[in-house]
Amino acid sequence: SWSSSDSVISTDSAGEPAEPERPYRVVLLGASGVGKTAFASIFAGAADSMDSDDCELYELSEKEIEVDGEPATITLLDTWDTERYMQTGDAYLLLYSITDRASFLRASELRITLRRFRPAHHTPIILVGNKCDLVRRREVSVSEGRACAAVFDCKFIETSAAMQHNVWEAFYGIVRQLRLRRDSKEA
Ligand code: GDP
Repeated sequence: SWSSSDSVISTDSAGEPAEPERPYRVVLLGASGVGKTAFASIFAGAADSMDSDDCELYELSEKEIEVDGEPATITLLDTWDTERYMQTGDAYLLLYSITDRASFLRASELRITLRRFRPAHHTPIILVGNKCDLVRRREVSVSEGRACAAVFDCKFIETSAAMQHNVWEAFYGIVRQLRLRRDSKEA
């Protein structure tokens, strides 16, 4: 059931579990201002030294992390060239800000666009409600976020990049989903 575009970016050797894992390409998507750069800087380990003029530094960074006792390498793509990256990711973090309903609607639009670019099922996607520290400015409830994720067939997590809360959990969740997909392809 894999389209040709999938086979270009996926290992085409399903059934050979011995093959070393290449880096997973994880793409950050979402409206402007939702926290993509903040996520990328936490990932890059540069949260304190970030300068807003240095955004392009975070466009692409690669890092090995350990998830459930097993190493995984992630190449993180923080993008404004949305359409290009929609075709190249293995997995997606679809961000919105819980303080910005428009960004929540934008996330839904992006999910629909993503489905068009990546029609294969099981492309791991996590809907991420960021800025959950801004309690008083909340415009999107937890249950709305969860319901949206259910409709769009993806996982859901609320995070605060500012508090460094749940950001790594989002990356771990993506790796776990990629492994589930890998293992089911090998089966
Ligand atoms: P991007 O446009 O998606 O890359 O968004 P940025 O990462 O540049 O974030 C936009 C603004 O929101 C910046 O001022 C960040 O410091 C702030 N921000 C990002 N994440 C959080 C968060 O979790 N909580 C709070 N309070 N502010 C955040």
